[in-house]
Amino acid sequence: MKTNLWEKCSKEKRQEIENFCTEYKEFLSNNKTERECINFAKKMAEKNGFLSLEKLMKNPKQLKAGDKVYAINMQKAIVLFIVGKQPLEKGINIVGAHIDSPRFDLKATPFYESSGFCMLDTHYYGGIKKYQWTAQPMALHGVIVRKDGTSENVVIGEDDGNGFCFTDLLPHLEKETKREFGGEDLNLIAGNIAKEDAKEEKFIAGILDILKDKNISKEDFFSAEIEIVPSGKARDCGLDKSMVMAYGQDDRSCAFTSLKAILETEKPEYSVMCMLVDKEEIGSVGATGIRSKYFENCLAEIMNLCGQYSELKMRRCLNRSNMISADVTAAVDPNFPAPFNATTDAHLAKGISFNKYTGSHGKYGANDANPEFIAQLREVLDNEKISFQATEMGKVDQGGGGTIAYLMATYGMNVIDAGIPVLNMHAPWEITSKIDVFEAYRAYKAFYKMKIKE
Ligand code: MN
Ligand code: MN
Repeated sequence: MKTNLWEKCSKEKRQEIENFCTEYKEFLSNNKTERECINFAKKMAEKNGFLSLEKLMKNPKQLKAGDKVYAINMQKAIVLFIVGKQPLEKGINIVGAHIDSPRFDLKATPFYESSGFCMLDTHYYGGIKKYQWTAQPMALHGVIVRKDGTSENVVIGEDDGNGFCFTDLLPHLEKETKREFGGEDLNLIAGNIAKEDAKEEKFIAGILDILKDKNISKEDFFSAEIEIVPSGKARDCGLDKSMVMAYGQDDRSCAFTSLKAILETEKPEYSVMCMLVDKEEIGSVGATGIRSKYFENCLAEIMNLCGQYSELKMRRCLNRSNMISADVTAAVDPNFPAPFNATTDAHLAKGISFNKYTGSHGKYGANDANPEFIAQLREVLDNEKISFQATEMGKVDQGGGGTIAYLMATYGMNVIDAGIPVLNMHAPWEITSKIDVFEAYRAYKAFYKMKIKE
């Protein structure tokens, strides 16, 4: 079995990891929705010399090796691209991560009254254990778009001393029953002051008065996207501060590290691409999920700007590409080891975790990576002394999972899952090891330089 990486970690490297994770924690604290992540990625891309594809399409200029381009899809997904020295039809090295995380969304008609409260009705997003999200401070993040197209960005419940809560019953009134939370049981308390002169719905009226000051009406919530996420900043975890505890590390740990890796890549031999996508947690669907044709359209535009576009060349490019599906995996839990196979599953502080295949039961739904591709990756990782673990997710027949890997594999490219092991996955606060976050960043960086076999 692999050893704990901290055992042989020099003081200098520890400091390097600490510095990297300080930036990582700041990213997690400030970016809790897809839109916030895209804003961050856009800023970083522009700072590092990436040009807007949209602008280039309006004002075309020939792209050459070393040129950097980014494209944003509906504020919720981004493609970053660096043109390589080799022709594009020889393939590209792609890292893809997702930036959506389990949470709650406000419904389109969220307001109702109950027991003298103004309440906000929600709909959960992604796979969650509902009881984990109750009785703790929550924040609202999102955007409200008015009919005239103007919009209001919303962040309430972070640094303003405010907050929201999904209430739960006291133990005294629930001794005999073991209640399950239904999807309709999770509603936020929004207010408790009755409006004096209101004829009906006095509690809603009080809240709507506050919104009126911002020129927001009840109806505007139909054209809104407001997410309810755990309130508070990312923090260190443990007396030794070896871990990070934060909301949304599935999959923003891999999104941050793959983004940092491409930002630090210059003049690659083969073209490289980083994709941060939406909707992975609900099946990669919709215009901003990986099933959308968006990334393919971007690739066609980029090939065109390079003077290398043809349908055949693009097919060859996709077919010959390599991809890392950068997503987290479940780490063996010291409190609940039963569903894990300690020998074959991921452990914290043992490096970036490669899942040759995912899926469940008899590998149903799996992307199963090719040994020839894995052998090449091993060589790259070993040459750079990057620590990794070859893992699965849980005991056979225990459960399983999927990522965007099998969807990208439909192009006929080489794809493997590789990401950061996580404790408490899909809970309000997820835990990773700082050393794994750092090794993932190094692995993605090395992968962007990998030679593509003919
Ligand atoms: Mn994930
Ligand atoms: Mn997930």
